[in-house]
Amino acid sequence: MSIGLDLSGKTALVTGGSRGIGRECSKRLAAAGANVIVNYHKSEEKVLEVVKEIREAGGEAEPFRADIAKLDEVQALFTHIREKYGRLDVLVNNAGIIRDMLLLSMELSDWDRVMDLNLKGAFLCTKFAAEIMMPQHAGKIINISSIGAIKCGRGQSNYAAAKGGLISFTRACAVELSGKGIQVNAVLPGMIETDMSRRVRKLAGDAILKSIPAGRYGVPADIANMVVFLASDLSDYICGQAISVDGGMSVS
Ligand code: NAP
Repeated sequence: MSIGLDLSGKTALVTGGSRGIGRECSKRLAAAGANVIVNYHKSEEKVLEVVKEIREAGGEAEPFRADIAKLDEVQALFTHIREKYGRLDVLVNNAGIIRDMLLLSMELSDWDRVMDLNLKGAFLCTKFAAEIMMPQHAGKIINISSIGAIKCGRGQSNYAAAKGGLISFTRACAVELSGKGIQVNAVLPGMIETDMSRRVRKLAGDAILKSIPAGRYGVPADIANMVVFLASDLSDYICGQAISVDGGMSVS
């Protein structure tokens, strides 16, 4: 009996796949058999490295540069996907940034940049992906939100709003798309060891670690494993959910 974790023949796009969580998602989706388009913005060397690793392990991947916050660049990315693959089975809206600042010091540019990438970028990619997925009557869209949407940190009003918005966006899209065979879900990572969280982990010392029942920070693979599950047929009846992968942080 096969339990359906095989992604052979599927095409997947991971935004922000050059580093951190997106990098591991790209590798694990490829290891499960998917042909992965690894989007990046600035880290060309890193993306070439991950594509090389995937190919050397026998998988299929290609890099594609696009600023996910920009309509014309997202359009070019999806035109490429349509022309080269003619389909898209999995979209992982992972690209994200933080611009932490206490509310009274936060500039409009700090707010806008975080909204533009974390929320507007996910909207743009989801819209273009749904256009391809609808005629297929199949597709998986996985939005990487954050535990910071519900357990809000100081200085993260922009990030919490964007990631909370992404959870609501996930639910609304699930209402529209589930009947078309497209499952949309969100993953809420806790504190994961990546470049993004390095500064916070350093500043907080043991305080954050003590608030994690599992007793350790997460690693990108913890999130990527959930993403592979949500990308697979095993998740076909899961729609519009926000799933925390946080070592118990959200319930402590
Ligand atoms: P990271 O290590 O800082 O990596 C961020 C990735 O996003 C990089 O690959 C980067 O690509 C890409 N990116 C940045 N700006 C982009 C743009 N304009 N267009 C396309 N890609 C862009 O971050 P991470 O920790 O892996 O975070 C990944 C996701 O998980 C984010 O959405 C983040 O909010 C979420 N998350 C992380 C944590 C955590 O503890 N780490 C917790 C909760 C949620 P380039 O380097 O090529 O520019």
